[in-house]
Amino acid sequence: MTDLLIIGGGITGQVAALTAAEAGARVTIVDAERNAGSHANAGSLHVQMQSRFLRLNPHLAENLESSLPLYLSAVTEWEALDARLGGVELTREGGLMLAESAAQLDFLHEKAAREARKGLDVEILDRDALHRIAPWLSPRIQGAELCRNEGKLNPLVANRKMRALLDGLGVRFVHDRITRIEDGAQPVAEGGERYRADRILVAAAWGAAALAGPLGLRIETPPEPLHMNITEAGDYRIHHLVQHAERPITLKQFRSGQVVIGGGWEASLADRDGHAPRIRKPSLLGNVALAAQIAPGIGGLRVLRTWAGYNTPVDGKATIGPAGPDSRVFLALPGDAGYTLGPVTGRSAAAMAIGSTPPIDPAPFDPARWRA
Ligand SMILES: Cc1cc2nc3c(=O)[nH]c(=O)nc-3n(C[C@H](O)[C@H](O)[C@H](O)COP(=O)(O)OP(=O)(O)OC[C@H]3O[C@@H](n4cnc5c(N)ncnc54)[C@H](O)[C@@H]3O)c2cc1C
Repeated sequence: MTDLLIIGGGITGQVAALTAAEAGARVTIVDAERNAGSHANAGSLHVQMQSRFLRLNPHLAENLESSLPLYLSAVTEWEALDARLGGVELTREGGLMLAESAAQLDFLHEKAAREARKGLDVEILDRDALHRIAPWLSPRIQGAELCRNEGKLNPLVANRKMRALLDGLGVRFVHDRITRIEDGAQPVAEGGERYRADRILVAAAWGAAALAGPLGLRIETPPEPLHMNITEAGDYRIHHLVQHAERPITLKQFRSGQVVIGGGWEASLADRDGHAPRIRKPSLLGNVALAAQIAPGIGGLRVLRTWAGYNTPVDGKATIGPAGPDSRVFLALPGDAGYTLGPVTGRSAAAMAIGSTPPIDPAPFDPARWRA
């Protein structure tokens, strides 16, 4: 018997486990050990609205905008976790969203005004101001939005330290795939095994829809396969998280000097269940070519490794709380930018599951919006 059984061992499930274990609960994480976004992600601490999400999902813009206060809490949560883990190379020197045209700058002005109203620390930089703080940028970049709340961390370090911390707290990890949650909240695994737990927390990202459906929640969690690259080490010069107002790019540099390049270039869905998504050559070439246009100085660095993983943007808004009134099943789905939002989402859902006070008001993220 376990007090809290968590389905999904990415960053959201792990922080949920940490919250419950520190409160004295016996915690088990069950994970199919397949395709966690948390093991593929790039370590950007996003706060400002990502242009890519707005471009692809104009109908979900309101969800993203209303979530901005959660993003601010998420960064605070990551800072606390950074301290708890003894450092995960977290820095908060801000994020730049670049513009190459007057139209893109207009878009950023309008976006920044909306974000400022939600409490974000944002400013539009003209060409001179931008190139003073980011002299490595191409001269074709005309200005940018600076969001001082943003930052970055090293997910390889964070994931390793999280796992060690949970092992030390006695959290049990089980490799298994849950196929359904039955009445009475007993999860059933692929091989028919039934897990017994007082409470269940679903932090299964792309796997959540199949588990939540029978509970009456019509959540859509299609996996979004995305491409990433990392280069060899160069001089450490890019201190900001870098994105673009219109083009699909994120770019940042780890303390090691390695540049991580992504931004939503697509990978291919796995051909069979459980397999990792596959790299697409046009994404590799297009992504690194765009990075070299924006930051010509990194053009000489060789790409050491590419990989792909599943993002789960859901509807651009977190889902946090019980599956229904008096339910013993709780949901913890970060929505877009899930590595940024994972800790605050996991901590909040776990607090509700064990009957303590969540760090944020969970009302806007109530799973009730998914009730059929
Ligand atoms: C290439 C890439 C780069 C990204 N970069 C960033 C970034 O820089 N910043 C950012 O904020 N976000 C980023 N993201 C998004 C982010 O990684 C994810 O949204 C986030 O990791 C989600 O965390 P999670 O713990 O909720 O889910 P995941 O980490 O996806 O974990 C879900 C887990 O659930 C398990 N699971 C699913 N179904 C079942 C089941 N039925 N039974 C048992 N286990 C199950 C899976 O095996 C998996 O381990 C990126 C995503 C990708 C793919």
